[in-house]
Amino acid sequence: MGTAVSLQPPPQYDAVPPVPVIEHVMSQEEINKTCEALYWKSAGLKLEAGTHFRGCSMPAIYANTYICEIWYINDNRVRRHEIGHCNGWPADHPGGIFPPEDNPWHR
Ligand SMILES: [Zn+2]
Repeated sequence: MGTAVSLQPPPQYDAVPPVPVIEHVMSQEEINKTCEALYWKSAGLKLEAGTHFRGCSMPAIYANTYICEIWYINDNRVRRHEIGHCNGWPADHPGGIFPPEDNPWHR
């Protein structure tokens, strides 16, 4: 689901998804608005104060086909994170790998 950090998925989820993926690359501000609205609508969840989204993902059905829609800032680590969710990586990120070069500005 959402990304407040760029945890990388474990190898079993770090692959090309079995379903079509619709990708949206947006500015940090737009991502935060979009993902916050999506999260609030789907789960009634808000991020803790002082954090913001870098990306989010949502499974969907489009023209009778399962797809995965992802939104992310222009950062390949965030893309991989969200693609991991398209592959079934659970929202609580089991096995997530914290990249050592990750930028600490999100917290
Ligand atoms: Zn996530």
